[in-house]
Amino acid sequence: MRMPLKTRLTLLFVTMFAVIVAAWSIFVVFVVRADLYAGIDRALDSRASQLAVGLQGSADGEFQDITDSTLVGLSPTEATAQLLSSTGTVLESSGDTMSVDAIVSPEVLARAERTHAAQLLTISAHDGEHFRVLVVKLTGADRLILVGASTENADASVKRLILIMLLTGPLALLAAGMGGWLLAQRALRPVSRMTSTAARIGIDALSERVPVPTEGDELAGLAVTLNNMLSRLEAGVQAKRRLVADASHELQTPLAVMRTELDVSLASGTLPPDAVEVLESAREETDRMTRIVRNLLTLAHFDEGTLRLLPVPVDLHEVASEAVSSLATLAREREVKVGVEGDAAEVVADPEYLRVVVINLLENAIKYSGPGSTATVTTGLDDDDALLTVSDTGPGIPADALPHIFDRFYRADASRAHENSGSGLGLAIACEIVEAHRGKLTAESEQGVGSRFVVRLTAREPDPIG
Ligand code: ADP
Repeated sequence: MRMPLKTRLTLLFVTMFAVIVAAWSIFVVFVVRADLYAGIDRALDSRASQLAVGLQGSADGEFQDITDSTLVGLSPTEATAQLLSSTGTVLESSGDTMSVDAIVSPEVLARAERTHAAQLLTISAHDGEHFRVLVVKLTGADRLILVGASTENADASVKRLILIMLLTGPLALLAAGMGGWLLAQRALRPVSRMTSTAARIGIDALSERVPVPTEGDELAGLAVTLNNMLSRLEAGVQAKRRLVADASHELQTPLAVMRTELDVSLASGTLPPDAVEVLESAREETDRMTRIVRNLLTLAHFDEGTLRLLPVPVDLHEVASEAVSSLATLAREREVKVGVEGDAAEVVADPEYLRVVVINLLENAIKYSGPGSTATVTTGLDDDDALLTVSDTGPGIPADALPHIFDRFYRADASRAHENSGSGLGLAIACEIVEAHRGKLTAESEQGVGSRFVVRLTAREPDPIG
Protein backbone atom coordinates (compact mmCIF):
# COMPACT_ATOMS: atom_id res chain seq x y z
CA MET A 1 0.00 0.00 0.00
CA ARG A 2 1.21 3.50 -0.76
CA MET A 3 2.01 5.82 2.11
CA PRO A 4 -0.80 8.23 3.02
CA LEU A 5 -0.48 11.70 1.50
CA LYS A 6 -0.15 13.23 4.97
CA THR A 7 2.92 11.08 5.73
CA ARG A 8 4.45 11.75 2.33
CA LEU A 9 3.99 15.51 2.67
CA THR A 10 5.55 15.44 6.15
CA LEU A 11 8.51 13.38 4.94
CA LEU A 12 9.04 15.71 2.01
CA PHE A 13 8.87 18.71 4.30
CA VAL A 14 11.33 17.16 6.80
CA THR A 15 13.74 16.18 4.00
CA MET A 16 13.70 19.67 2.54
CA PHE A 17 14.12 21.19 5.98
CA ALA A 18 17.07 18.84 6.70
CA VAL A 19 18.80 19.80 3.43
CA ILE A 20 18.30 23.52 4.10
CA VAL A 21 19.48 23.24 7.73
CA ALA A 22 22.52 21.17 6.69
CA ALA A 23 23.50 23.67 3.98
CA TRP A 24 22.95 26.60 6.34
CA SER A 25 25.01 24.90 9.10
CA ILE A 26 27.92 24.23 6.74
CA PHE A 27 27.81 27.85 5.61
CA VAL A 28 27.79 29.16 9.20
CA VAL A 29 30.70 26.87 10.20
CA PHE A 30 32.75 28.11 7.24
CA VAL A 31 32.00 31.76 7.92
CA VAL A 32 32.79 31.46 11.65
CA ARG A 33 36.01 29.54 10.96
CA ALA A 34 37.11 32.07 8.33
CA ASP A 35 36.32 34.89 10.76
CA LEU A 36 38.34 33.33 13.58
CA TYR A 37 41.30 32.67 11.27
CA ALA A 38 41.10 36.23 9.95
CA GLY A 39 41.38 37.45 13.58
CA ILE A 40 44.51 35.32 14.09
CA ASP A 41 45.97 36.60 10.81
CA ARG A 42 45.37 40.21 11.82
CA ALA A 43 47.11 39.59 15.18
CA LEU A 44 50.06 37.92 13.39
CA ASP A 45 50.32 40.81 11.02
CA SER A 46 50.49 43.37 13.80
CA ARG A 47 53.02 41.28 15.75
CA ALA A 48 55.25 40.96 12.71
CA SER A 49 55.08 44.73 12.19
CA GLN A 50 55.97 45.39 15.85
CA LEU A 51 58.92 42.99 15.63
CA ALA A 52 60.15 44.60 12.42
CA VAL A 53 59.94 48.06 13.89
CA GLY A 54 61.77 46.94 17.04
CA LEU A 55 64.51 45.17 15.11
CA GLN A 56 65.08 48.03 12.73
CA GLY A 57 65.17 50.42 15.69
CA SER A 58 67.90 48.50 17.56
CA ALA A 59 71.46 49.02 16.57
CA ASP A 60 72.64 45.46 16.80
CA GLY A 61 69.34 43.82 15.82
CA GLU A 62 69.05 41.89 19.07
CA PHE A 63 65.95 39.73 18.70
CA GLN A 64 65.62 38.86 22.35
CA ASP A 65 65.34 42.54 23.28
CA ILE A 66 62.42 43.00 21.00
CA THR A 67 60.57 39.87 21.94
CA ASP A 68 60.70 41.00 25.51
CA SER A 69 58.91 44.17 24.55
CA THR A 70 56.87 43.19 21.49
CA LEU A 71 55.73 39.77 22.54
CA VAL A 72 54.52 41.04 25.86
CA GLY A 73 51.28 39.31 26.86
CA LEU A 74 51.71 36.50 24.38
CA SER A 75 51.31 33.10 25.97
CA PRO A 76 54.26 30.96 24.90
CA THR A 77 51.90 28.10 24.00
CA GLU A 78 49.93 30.33 21.69
CA ALA A 79 52.55 32.19 19.83
CA THR A 80 55.96 31.76 18.37
CA ALA A 81 58.45 34.03 16.64
CA GLN A 82 61.72 33.40 14.81
CA LEU A 83 64.35 35.58 13.28
CA LEU A 84 65.84 33.84 10.27
CA SER A 85 68.72 34.47 7.96
CA SER A 86 68.02 34.58 4.23
CA THR A 87 69.27 30.98 3.98
CA GLY A 88 66.75 29.80 6.59
CA THR A 89 69.04 29.49 9.61
CA VAL A 90 67.26 30.28 12.85
CA LEU A 91 69.09 33.17 14.46
CA GLU A 92 66.71 33.73 17.32
CA SER A 93 63.60 31.97 18.48
CA SER A 94 60.93 32.71 21.01
CA GLY A 95 57.62 31.24 22.18
CA ASP A 96 56.32 27.71 21.91
CA THR A 97 58.45 26.42 19.06
CA MET A 98 61.89 26.94 20.46
CA SER A 99 63.28 25.21 17.47
CA VAL A 100 66.67 25.37 15.87
CA ASP A 101 65.09 24.83 12.45
CA ALA A 102 62.76 27.13 10.62
CA ILE A 103 59.21 25.87 11.17
CA VAL A 104 58.24 26.48 7.53
CA SER A 105 59.69 24.88 4.42
CA PRO A 106 62.66 26.49 2.63
CA GLU A 107 60.46 27.11 -0.43
CA VAL A 108 58.23 29.44 1.59
CA LEU A 109 61.27 31.29 2.94
CA ALA A 110 62.74 31.53 -0.55
CA ARG A 111 59.46 32.89 -1.89
CA ALA A 112 59.31 35.52 0.88
CA GLU A 113 62.95 36.42 0.19
CA ARG A 114 62.44 36.63 -3.55
CA THR A 115 59.06 38.39 -3.72
CA HIS A 116 59.35 40.56 -0.62
CA ALA A 117 55.68 39.68 -0.06
CA ALA A 118 54.31 38.40 3.23
CA GLN A 119 53.65 34.64 3.15
CA LEU A 120 50.65 33.44 5.13
CA LEU A 121 50.05 29.71 5.62
CA THR A 122 48.77 27.02 7.95
CA ILE A 123 51.18 24.32 9.12
CA SER A 124 50.85 21.23 11.27
CA ALA A 125 53.25 20.71 14.16
CA HIS A 126 54.50 17.24 15.05
CA ASP A 127 51.94 16.90 17.86
CA GLY A 128 49.12 17.49 15.38
CA GLU A 129 48.56 21.08 16.49
CA HIS A 130 47.93 23.60 13.72
CA PHE A 131 49.60 26.99 13.41
CA ARG A 132 48.90 30.02 11.28
CA VAL A 133 52.29 31.34 10.23
CA LEU A 134 53.31 34.67 8.67
CA VAL A 135 56.73 35.14 7.09
CA VAL A 136 57.88 38.68 6.17
CA LYS A 137 61.20 40.01 4.93
CA LEU A 138 62.80 42.76 6.95
CA THR A 139 63.29 45.75 4.66
CA GLY A 140 66.92 46.65 4.14
CA ALA A 141 68.27 43.56 5.92
CA ASP A 142 69.02 39.96 5.02
CA ARG A 143 66.63 38.77 7.62
CA LEU A 144 63.21 37.18 7.71
CA ILE A 145 60.73 37.40 10.53
CA LEU A 146 58.40 34.48 11.14
CA VAL A 147 55.48 34.79 13.53
CA GLY A 148 53.03 32.00 14.25
CA ALA A 149 50.04 31.38 16.41
CA SER A 150 48.24 28.22 17.33
CA THR A 151 44.75 27.75 15.85
CA GLU A 152 43.79 25.51 18.77
CA ASN A 153 41.30 27.94 20.32
CA ALA A 154 39.71 28.81 16.99
CA ASP A 155 39.48 25.11 16.04
CA ALA A 156 37.96 24.30 19.44
CA SER A 157 35.33 27.01 18.93
CA VAL A 158 34.50 25.64 15.49
CA LYS A 159 34.29 22.10 16.91
CA ARG A 160 31.98 23.31 19.67
CA LEU A 161 29.78 25.01 17.08
CA ILE A 162 29.61 21.80 14.99
CA LEU A 163 28.74 19.80 18.11
CA ILE A 164 25.96 22.21 19.06
CA MET A 165 24.58 21.99 15.53
CA LEU A 166 24.76 18.19 15.51
CA LEU A 167 22.96 18.02 18.84
CA THR A 168 20.28 20.59 18.13
CA GLY A 169 19.81 19.64 14.44
CA PRO A 170 17.86 16.42 15.15
CA LEU A 171 15.69 18.26 17.67
CA ALA A 172 14.96 20.94 15.10
CA LEU A 173 14.14 18.21 12.56
CA LEU A 174 11.79 16.53 15.05
CA ALA A 175 10.06 19.82 15.72
CA ALA A 176 9.83 20.48 11.98
CA GLY A 177 8.42 16.97 11.45
CA MET A 178 5.75 17.49 14.08
CA GLY A 179 4.91 20.91 12.71
CA GLY A 180 4.76 19.50 9.18
CA TRP A 181 2.50 16.67 10.30
CA LEU A 182 0.10 19.07 12.03
CA LEU A 183 0.10 21.36 9.01
CA ALA A 184 -0.55 18.48 6.60
CA GLN A 185 -3.31 17.20 8.85
CA ARG A 186 -4.90 20.62 8.99
CA ALA A 187 -4.57 21.17 5.26
CA LEU A 188 -6.00 17.74 4.42
CA ARG A 189 -8.86 17.77 6.96
CA PRO A 190 -11.33 19.20 4.39
CA VAL A 191 -10.25 16.44 1.98
CA SER A 192 -11.05 13.75 4.60
CA ARG A 193 -14.42 15.36 5.23
CA MET A 194 -15.15 15.45 1.49
CA THR A 195 -14.02 11.84 1.09
CA SER A 196 -16.25 10.49 3.86
CA THR A 197 -19.26 12.43 2.58
CA ALA A 198 -18.62 11.40 -1.02
CA ALA A 199 -18.28 7.76 0.10
CA ARG A 200 -21.69 8.01 1.77
CA ILE A 201 -23.41 9.40 -1.31
CA GLY A 202 -24.98 6.45 -3.04
CA ILE A 203 -27.54 6.31 -5.80
CA ASP A 204 -30.23 6.64 -3.08
CA ALA A 205 -28.75 9.80 -1.55
CA LEU A 206 -27.81 11.87 -4.57
CA SER A 207 -29.30 14.99 -3.01
CA GLU A 208 -26.45 15.10 -0.45
CA ARG A 209 -23.51 17.41 -1.14
CA VAL A 210 -19.90 17.40 0.00
CA PRO A 211 -18.97 20.21 2.46
CA VAL A 212 -17.33 23.24 0.80
CA PRO A 213 -14.32 24.54 2.82
CA THR A 214 -14.84 28.19 3.82
CA GLU A 215 -11.29 29.22 2.88
CA GLY A 216 -12.27 29.60 -0.78
CA ASP A 217 -9.04 27.94 -1.94
CA GLU A 218 -8.33 25.11 -4.42
CA LEU A 219 -10.06 22.58 -2.15
CA ALA A 220 -13.18 24.71 -2.12
CA GLY A 221 -12.97 24.69 -5.93
CA LEU A 222 -12.73 20.90 -5.90
CA ALA A 223 -15.73 20.61 -3.56
CA VAL A 224 -17.80 22.93 -5.76
CA THR A 225 -16.82 20.93 -8.87
CA LEU A 226 -17.76 17.68 -7.13
CA ASN A 227 -21.09 19.15 -6.05
CA ASN A 228 -21.81 20.37 -9.58
CA MET A 229 -21.04 16.89 -10.84
CA LEU A 230 -23.41 15.42 -8.23
CA SER A 231 -26.14 17.83 -9.36
CA ARG A 232 -25.72 16.70 -12.95
CA LEU A 233 -25.71 13.06 -11.84
CA GLU A 234 -28.84 13.59 -9.76
CA ALA A 235 -30.62 15.24 -12.68
CA GLY A 236 -29.58 12.35 -14.97
CA VAL A 237 -30.73 9.68 -12.54
CA GLN A 238 -34.01 11.49 -11.96
CA ALA A 239 -34.60 11.73 -15.70
CA LYS A 240 -33.89 7.99 -16.02
CA ARG A 241 -36.27 7.14 -13.17
CA ARG A 242 -38.94 9.30 -14.73
CA LEU A 243 -38.46 7.54 -18.04
CA VAL A 244 -38.75 4.10 -16.40
CA ALA A 245 -41.83 5.18 -14.43
CA ASP A 246 -43.51 6.74 -17.48
CA ALA A 247 -42.62 3.87 -19.79
CA SER A 248 -43.83 1.20 -17.40
CA HIS A 249 -46.98 3.16 -16.67
CA GLU A 250 -47.69 3.57 -20.39
CA LEU A 251 -47.05 -0.14 -21.03
CA GLN A 252 -49.60 -1.28 -18.46
CA THR A 253 -52.70 -0.40 -20.48
CA PRO A 254 -51.68 -2.01 -23.81
CA LEU A 255 -50.60 -5.13 -21.91
CA ALA A 256 -53.96 -5.32 -20.14
CA VAL A 257 -55.77 -4.85 -23.45
CA MET A 258 -53.67 -7.59 -25.08
CA ARG A 259 -54.40 -9.91 -22.16
CA THR A 260 -58.18 -9.29 -22.48
CA GLU A 261 -58.14 -9.77 -26.26
CA LEU A 262 -56.20 -13.02 -25.90
CA ASP A 263 -58.68 -14.21 -23.27
CA VAL A 264 -61.60 -13.34 -25.52
CA SER A 265 -60.04 -15.11 -28.51
CA LEU A 266 -59.27 -18.20 -26.46
CA ALA A 267 -62.74 -18.21 -24.96
CA SER A 268 -64.44 -18.26 -28.38
CA GLY A 269 -63.78 -22.01 -28.69
CA THR A 270 -63.70 -21.86 -32.50
CA LEU A 271 -59.93 -21.84 -32.92
CA PRO A 272 -57.94 -24.78 -34.26
CA PRO A 273 -55.69 -26.46 -31.62
CA ASP A 274 -52.48 -25.01 -33.15
CA ALA A 275 -53.82 -21.48 -32.84
CA VAL A 276 -54.95 -22.13 -29.26
CA GLU A 277 -51.43 -23.25 -28.36
CA VAL A 278 -49.87 -20.13 -29.90
CA LEU A 279 -52.37 -17.83 -28.21
CA GLU A 280 -51.85 -19.51 -24.83
CA SER A 281 -48.12 -19.04 -25.16
CA ALA A 282 -48.69 -15.39 -26.09
CA ARG A 283 -50.93 -14.99 -23.01
CA GLU A 284 -48.21 -16.49 -20.82
CA GLU A 285 -45.61 -14.06 -22.24
CA THR A 286 -48.02 -11.16 -21.80
CA ASP A 287 -48.42 -12.14 -18.15
CA ARG A 288 -44.67 -12.29 -17.70
CA MET A 289 -44.25 -8.89 -19.31
CA THR A 290 -46.98 -7.50 -17.07
CA ARG A 291 -45.09 -8.78 -14.02
CA ILE A 292 -41.85 -7.18 -15.21
CA VAL A 293 -43.57 -3.86 -15.93
CA ARG A 294 -45.25 -4.01 -12.52
CA ASN A 295 -41.83 -4.55 -10.88
CA LEU A 296 -40.32 -1.64 -12.78
CA LEU A 297 -43.17 0.65 -11.83
CA THR A 298 -42.88 -0.34 -8.16
CA LEU A 299 -39.16 0.34 -8.28
CA ALA A 300 -39.71 3.74 -9.89
CA HIS A 301 -42.27 4.63 -7.18
CA PHE A 302 -39.81 3.60 -4.49
CA ASP A 303 -37.00 5.66 -5.98
CA GLU A 304 -39.14 8.72 -6.49
CA GLY A 305 -40.62 8.35 -3.02
CA THR A 306 -44.10 8.27 -4.53
CA LEU A 307 -45.12 4.80 -3.41
CA ARG A 308 -48.65 5.11 -2.03
CA LEU A 309 -49.85 2.09 -0.12
CA LEU A 310 -53.59 1.55 0.17
CA PRO A 311 -53.82 -0.83 3.13
CA VAL A 312 -56.97 -2.88 3.61
CA PRO A 313 -57.60 -6.13 5.49
CA VAL A 314 -56.22 -8.98 3.34
CA ASP A 315 -55.88 -12.70 3.89
CA LEU A 316 -52.37 -13.88 3.01
CA HIS A 317 -53.80 -17.29 2.18
CA GLU A 318 -55.96 -15.75 -0.54
CA VAL A 319 -53.06 -13.77 -1.96
CA ALA A 320 -51.01 -16.99 -2.02
CA SER A 321 -53.77 -18.91 -3.83
CA GLU A 322 -54.10 -16.16 -6.43
CA ALA A 323 -50.33 -16.12 -7.01
CA VAL A 324 -50.22 -19.89 -7.41
CA SER A 325 -52.99 -19.87 -9.97
CA SER A 326 -51.49 -16.99 -11.92
CA LEU A 327 -48.16 -18.84 -12.13
CA ALA A 328 -49.72 -22.24 -12.83
CA THR A 329 -48.80 -22.16 -16.53
CA LEU A 330 -45.16 -21.30 -15.80
CA ALA A 331 -45.04 -24.10 -13.20
CA ARG A 332 -46.46 -26.55 -15.68
CA GLU A 333 -43.93 -25.54 -18.34
CA ARG A 334 -41.05 -25.92 -15.86
CA GLU A 335 -42.50 -29.17 -14.49
CA VAL A 336 -42.54 -27.81 -10.97
CA LYS A 337 -45.33 -28.81 -8.61
CA VAL A 338 -46.84 -25.78 -6.89
CA GLY A 339 -49.29 -25.72 -4.00
CA VAL A 340 -50.74 -23.65 -1.16
CA GLU A 341 -50.89 -24.87 2.41
CA GLY A 342 -51.76 -23.50 5.83
CA ASP A 343 -54.45 -21.36 7.31
CA ALA A 344 -55.96 -17.95 6.88
CA ALA A 345 -53.66 -15.14 8.08
CA GLU A 346 -55.16 -11.69 7.97
CA VAL A 347 -53.03 -8.59 7.73
CA VAL A 348 -53.67 -4.95 6.90
CA ALA A 349 -51.74 -4.33 3.71
CA ASP A 350 -51.93 -3.16 0.12
CA PRO A 351 -53.12 -6.28 -1.75
CA GLU A 352 -51.65 -5.11 -5.08
CA TYR A 353 -48.14 -4.85 -3.65
CA LEU A 354 -48.52 -8.01 -1.54
CA ARG A 355 -49.31 -9.85 -4.75
CA VAL A 356 -46.05 -8.51 -6.26
CA VAL A 357 -44.13 -9.91 -3.26
CA VAL A 358 -45.68 -13.38 -3.42
CA ILE A 359 -45.41 -13.58 -7.19
CA ASN A 360 -41.74 -12.56 -7.15
CA LEU A 361 -40.92 -15.19 -4.51
CA LEU A 362 -42.96 -17.94 -6.14
CA GLU A 363 -41.72 -17.14 -9.62
CA ASN A 364 -38.13 -17.51 -8.34
CA ALA A 365 -39.01 -20.81 -6.63
CA ILE A 366 -40.37 -22.11 -9.93
CA LYS A 367 -37.64 -20.55 -12.13
CA TYR A 368 -34.64 -21.76 -10.15
CA SER A 369 -35.89 -25.23 -9.12
CA GLY A 370 -35.42 -27.93 -11.71
CA PRO A 371 -38.13 -30.20 -13.18
CA GLY A 372 -39.66 -32.54 -10.62
CA SER A 373 -39.17 -30.22 -7.67
CA THR A 374 -41.86 -28.67 -5.53
CA ALA A 375 -42.66 -25.06 -4.63
CA THR A 376 -45.04 -24.49 -1.75
CA VAL A 377 -46.61 -21.35 -0.30
CA THR A 378 -47.61 -21.77 3.33
CA THR A 379 -49.51 -19.20 5.40
CA GLY A 380 -50.33 -19.08 9.08
CA LEU A 381 -50.14 -17.14 12.34
CA ASP A 382 -47.27 -17.00 14.77
CA ASP A 383 -48.29 -15.12 17.94
CA ASP A 384 -49.02 -11.57 16.76
CA ASP A 385 -47.46 -12.14 13.36
CA ALA A 386 -48.83 -13.43 10.12
CA LEU A 387 -46.38 -15.56 8.13
CA LEU A 388 -46.18 -16.39 4.46
CA THR A 389 -43.47 -18.87 3.51
CA VAL A 390 -42.40 -19.78 -0.01
CA SER A 391 -40.26 -22.91 0.05
CA ASP A 392 -38.85 -25.02 -2.74
CA THR A 393 -36.87 -28.19 -3.18
CA GLY A 394 -34.56 -26.55 -5.69
CA PRO A 395 -30.74 -26.35 -5.76
CA GLY A 396 -30.56 -23.76 -2.98
CA ILE A 397 -28.46 -20.58 -2.84
CA PRO A 398 -24.71 -20.64 -2.12
CA ALA A 399 -23.91 -19.43 1.43
CA ASP A 400 -21.68 -16.61 0.15
CA ALA A 401 -24.47 -15.33 -2.13
CA LEU A 402 -27.21 -15.45 0.50
CA PRO A 403 -26.38 -12.10 2.20
CA HIS A 404 -26.55 -10.33 -1.19
CA ILE A 405 -29.69 -11.71 -2.82
CA PHE A 406 -31.81 -8.76 -1.62
CA ASP A 407 -29.41 -6.27 -3.22
CA ARG A 408 -30.54 -4.63 -6.42
CA PHE A 409 -29.25 -6.22 -9.63
CA TYR A 410 -27.64 -9.10 -7.75
CA ARG A 411 -27.87 -12.49 -9.43
CA ALA A 412 -26.38 -15.39 -7.49
CA ASP A 413 -25.12 -17.88 -10.03
CA ALA A 414 -24.36 -16.08 -13.27
CA SER A 415 -24.34 -19.25 -15.36
CA ARG A 416 -27.67 -20.53 -13.98
CA ALA A 417 -29.16 -17.06 -13.87
CA HIS A 418 -28.45 -16.79 -17.59
CA GLU A 419 -30.84 -19.68 -18.29
CA ASN A 420 -33.57 -17.80 -16.42
CA SER A 421 -34.42 -14.35 -17.63
CA GLY A 422 -34.33 -11.88 -14.77
CA SER A 423 -32.79 -8.63 -13.72
CA GLY A 424 -31.80 -9.27 -10.12
CA LEU A 425 -34.56 -6.88 -8.98
CA GLY A 426 -37.34 -9.26 -7.90
CA LEU A 427 -36.11 -9.91 -4.35
CA ALA A 428 -34.98 -6.29 -3.82
CA ILE A 429 -38.49 -5.09 -4.72
CA ALA A 430 -40.15 -7.76 -2.55
CA CYS A 431 -37.97 -6.75 0.37
CA GLU A 432 -38.71 -3.03 -0.05
CA ILE A 433 -42.48 -3.67 -0.24
CA VAL A 434 -42.42 -5.85 2.90
CA GLU A 435 -40.38 -3.24 4.76
CA ALA A 436 -42.76 -0.49 3.61
CA HIS A 437 -45.43 -2.55 5.45
CA ARG A 438 -43.13 -2.64 8.51
CA GLY A 439 -42.61 -6.33 7.99
CA LYS A 440 -39.58 -8.51 7.45
CA LEU A 441 -38.48 -10.72 4.58
CA THR A 442 -35.85 -13.35 5.37
CA ALA A 443 -34.22 -16.15 3.41
CA GLU A 444 -32.78 -19.50 4.43
CA SER A 445 -31.23 -21.90 2.04
CA GLU A 446 -29.22 -25.09 1.96
CA GLN A 447 -27.49 -26.11 -1.22
CA GLY A 448 -28.92 -29.30 -2.68
CA VAL A 449 -31.92 -29.17 -0.32
CA GLY A 450 -33.84 -26.02 -1.18
CA SER A 451 -34.69 -22.45 -0.18
CA ARG A 452 -37.23 -20.83 2.10
CA PHE A 453 -38.34 -17.22 2.01
CA VAL A 454 -40.43 -16.00 4.95
CA VAL A 455 -42.57 -12.85 4.92
CA ARG A 456 -43.44 -11.76 8.45
CA LEU A 457 -46.14 -9.07 8.87
CA THR A 458 -48.13 -7.92 11.87
CA ALA A 459 -51.35 -9.92 11.99
CA ARG A 460 -54.59 -7.97 11.86
CA GLU A 461 -56.23 -7.67 15.24
CA PRO A 462 -59.50 -9.67 15.26
CA ASP A 463 -62.63 -7.50 15.23
CA PRO A 464 -64.06 -7.02 18.71
CA ILE A 465 -67.01 -9.34 19.15
CA GLY A 466 -70.37 -7.59 19.30
P1 ADP B 1 -33.70 -12.48 -10.69
O1 ADP B 1 -34.58 -13.64 -10.38
O2 ADP B 1 -34.30 -11.51 -11.62
O3 ADP B 1 -32.31 -12.86 -11.06
P2 ADP B 1 -34.05 -11.87 -7.88
O4 ADP B 1 -33.76 -10.58 -7.13
O5 ADP B 1 -35.45 -12.33 -7.88
O6 ADP B 1 -33.49 -11.64 -9.35
O7 ADP B 1 -33.12 -12.99 -7.28
C1 ADP B 1 -31.76 -12.74 -7.05
C2 ADP B 1 -30.97 -14.02 -7.18
O8 ADP B 1 -31.22 -14.88 -6.07
C3 ADP B 1 -31.30 -14.83 -8.39
O9 ADP B 1 -30.53 -14.44 -9.50
C4 ADP B 1 -31.00 -16.26 -7.97
O10 ADP B 1 -29.67 -16.57 -8.25
C5 ADP B 1 -31.18 -16.25 -6.46
N1 ADP B 1 -32.46 -16.86 -6.08
C6 ADP B 1 -33.62 -16.22 -5.73
N2 ADP B 1 -34.57 -17.10 -5.38
C7 ADP B 1 -34.01 -18.32 -5.49
C8 ADP B 1 -34.50 -19.66 -5.27
N3 ADP B 1 -35.76 -19.89 -4.86
N4 ADP B 1 -33.65 -20.67 -5.48
C9 ADP B 1 -32.39 -20.45 -5.89
N5 ADP B 1 -31.85 -19.23 -6.12
C10 ADP B 1 -32.66 -18.19 -5.94
